[in-house]
Amino acid sequence: MNIHEYQAKSLLKEYGVPVPRGGVAFTPEEALSVAGELGGPVWVVKSQIHAGGRGAGRFRDDPSGKGGVRVVRSLEAVGEAASAMLGRVLVTKQTGPAGKEVKRVYIEEGCAIARELYLSLLVDRGTSRVTVIASTEGGMEIEEVARRTPEKIVTVAIDPVTGLSGYHGRKVAFALGLSGKQVGAAVKLLGGLYRAFTELDAAIVEINPLVVTEAGELLALDAKLGFDDNALFRHPSIEALRDESEEDPKELEAGRHELNYIALDGNIGCMVNGAGLAMATMDIIKLYGGSPANFLDVGGGATRERVTAAFKLILSDANVEGILVNIFGGIMRCDVIAEGVVAAAREVSLHVPLVVRLEGTNVELGKKILSESGLPILSADDLADAAEKIVKAVKEAA
Ligand code: GDP
Ligand code: MN
Repeated sequence: MNIHEYQAKSLLKEYGVPVPRGGVAFTPEEALSVAGELGGPVWVVKSQIHAGGRGAGRFRDDPSGKGGVRVVRSLEAVGEAASAMLGRVLVTKQTGPAGKEVKRVYIEEGCAIARELYLSLLVDRGTSRVTVIASTEGGMEIEEVARRTPEKIVTVAIDPVTGLSGYHGRKVAFALGLSGKQVGAAVKLLGGLYRAFTELDAAIVEINPLVVTEAGELLALDAKLGFDDNALFRHPSIEALRDESEEDPKELEAGRHELNYIALDGNIGCMVNGAGLAMATMDIIKLYGGSPANFLDVGGGATRERVTAAFKLILSDANVEGILVNIFGGIMRCDVIAEGVVAAAREVSLHVPLVVRLEGTNVELGKKILSESGLPILSADDLADAAEKIVKAVKEAA
């Protein structure tokens, strides 16, 4: 789960990370009142969406206009910037062409920047360790830096047993070209980030840019915080920061029915029980020249209601041109699943080809239920047969 920049900054502040003063606003009037309290004379008005690249991004109805982060020098200009952002769709490199509607803006006091640096923490799957990534090239995407000047990126893996120590901080500080008092400040700042990362079960903390101000202070000017969904149950106060309007509505609906669903960009909807089988199903669809529209694991104890919810979910995706149901009835019986599939197909008045592959307990009875349903369901014997049939059916229907 991701949260907004202003929420991330407020959390990081509690961990002693220096951030500019600021306040969130949902209307231009609120923006003005926040700006008045901050005092000025320079403010930064920042679009709050769950995507980066806002500064360089453009509003959909004003492609030649200003971006989603604006530095302004009067209260009037704060109001104008907030009005120009709120309710508008911001398109950035990270949102994709559809963009995201700005529903909140963050008003911050402006600062005079001397240098822009990059600092982040994430779990490196290669080493299974929380790893610090630092670079002198702040303000641009780290992927871009990795491509153009990989030698300017320094990574430091942290041993989970001994944790972060001063020496890690100093190594990072020197890599960032800091000196004097800034070294101590960087060590403290990194310590705060690491504590926040581990205590809050984060998946990523990214400060881009981390700036050195003209007065020589370190300041987190941008902040991105993402959390490990599997640990959210331990953090109700973070769960409360969820902004559902930023999430894929299909994935949210799936969560409500305890379905593990990830939207993808292909055209064959998949309904499978078990994550491993779901992965294998996606692979074999690809192997036969098709492309999966989603990953969907209905779980081991799929009921008729859950199967129906899963069907509706798959069909709510306008890209879906065919469905492949691949269920192994171990604990679940195939006849129960077949009944669920038939009921669901009737309820949603299925309009795309459906291939069902059942295997396991009561498989013969399950197949009988499917064939006697009168529905145009294509039955398959094994995984390869199922994939071949659905890819072919989708091609023929097109
Ligand atoms: P992003 O584009 O979504 O990553 O948004 P950022 O929060 O990183 O802001 C983009 C850029 O705006 C930063 O890299 C800075 O160059 C600039 N910026 C943000 N805040 C200030 C500020 O207080 N003063 C000045 N001069 N520039 C700022
Ligand atoms: Mn940024």
